[in-house]
Amino acid sequence: MSLKDRIQQVERLVQAACERSGRDRDDVNVVAVTKYVSMETTGLLLDEGIVHIGENRPQKAVPKWEALEGRGVWHFIGHLQSNKVKDVIGKFQYIHSLDRLSLAKELEKRAAAQGITVSAFLQVNVSGETSKHGVRPEDAAQLLREIDSFSHIKVIGLMTMAPIEDDPELTRPVFRGLRELRDQLNAQKITKEPLTELSMGMSGDFEIAIEEGATWVRLGTLLVGKGEET
Ligand SMILES: *Cc1c(COP(=O)(O)O)cnc(C)c1O
Repeated sequence: MSLKDRIQQVERLVQAACERSGRDRDDVNVVAVTKYVSMETTGLLLDEGIVHIGENRPQKAVPKWEALEGRGVWHFIGHLQSNKVKDVIGKFQYIHSLDRLSLAKELEKRAAAQGITVSAFLQVNVSGETSKHGVRPEDAAQLLREIDSFSHIKVIGLMTMAPIEDDPELTRPVFRGLRELRDQLNAQKITKEPLTELSMGMSGDFEIAIEEGATWVRLGTLLVGKGEET
């Protein structure tokens, strides 16, 4: 399937999921996850009008970013080591994997030095799988309170990853759990400004995530392809 066809197919599925759940299409943003593909394919996506690019490894992402001269809006979606913050800061406007205070401190320091603000999602391990990064739901409020005083990080919402399931329906409680956690945190006024965003849903489960309130879905395999067969 051509890249154009893939983009159109995803658009139809996103629209259908919005219609099923009575949501406005404009409230759901698609991040094209380009970690499996080359700089050239990433450039083609940008040519097709894709704006949001997601990558999970600094050592692969930064050379792509540089070759593409920072076209688009870049999202860091993978586990981020504190010693890699200096490589991604100023290039990635969104960090989806903020999961600890030490990382927040490093982001704050580097963003302040550049005079910029990074948008971040607090990554929450809703499913409780030990293989997953993210704070425990019960620890989210405390971490948010601490980060809320940092002036160069703006936490805009929460992010989670659901377990891989043969039946995507089984991911629904995880996505619902993230939405309910966000609503609770907002009701308790943990942050000065309410958390509006939910980054959840990948190729196998994004339709369920949209039905449960995702405002950002992160699509690699389905949208971009895996490897260079596109
Ligand atoms: C790879 C990755 C994705 C995209 O996965 P697909 O299943 O290929 O769509 C989304 N989010 C994160 C954090 C990833 O690492």
